[in-house]
Amino acid sequence: MRAAPSSIAIDGPAASGKSTVSRVLAKRCGYHFLDTGLMYRAFALAALRASVPATEEACARFVAEVELRIGEELEAHVYLGSEDVTNKLHNRELEAHVSSYARLAPVRQALIERQRAYAARWRAVLAGRDIGEVVLPDAPLKIYLDADENARARRRNSERGIGHQGEARQSQQALSRRDRLDAAQTYLASGAIVIDTSALTLEEVIERVLGLAACEG
Ligand code: C5P
Repeated sequence: MRAAPSSIAIDGPAASGKSTVSRVLAKRCGYHFLDTGLMYRAFALAALRASVPATEEACARFVAEVELRIGEELEAHVYLGSEDVTNKLHNRELEAHVSSYARLAPVRQALIERQRAYAARWRAVLAGRDIGEVVLPDAPLKIYLDADENARARRRNSERGIGHQGEARQSQQALSRRDRLDAAQTYLASGAIVIDTSALTLEEVIERVLGLAACEG
């Protein structure tokens, strides 16, 4: 029998299903789960609250002083100081700004360091855009979940209960804008197994991923 890998990297664009799939996979494997998108979102939230502009200079200083912490929960929460902000991070306002902060080198350096420390501490599934290529290039299992823009927009709208046509169009435009802004930070890692989820159900994706991870459970 194959041994279960120590870190599993799940990358993919926005609304590709990576968080949901990673969550189920981590539970089934008994691993911790860190959604690295939450860290970039939390940084953007902190910067917006403190009116720090999305420039290298301002953010190099800010990332050194902001108290952004990953919790010890099996599915990691993210804290700013003692405030658990995990449930305040999924909204369109924040999504309009997060990429401008996430693309800055000092921000990435600082957050990537914490992601590596996390993976060194626990057997974990890490979900993001650059995990397999940059954060954990030695991860024994790397999966890239892809899906076409329409499928991702449909998923996002149903997650957020968006039924109104105009609003759905706006939401798709926001997704496509974020794709463009995040392109330079999104990698199909060498050695990654690509799963196109456009025409698959969540259960089908999970089944494939569980097969690849070969965890007990
Ligand atoms: O994955 P999620 O949509 O939650 O990510 C939010 C934002 O965080 C992305 O739009 C991207 O700008 C940034 N991000 C990143 N690298 C990662 C994870 C997320 O740049 N590994």
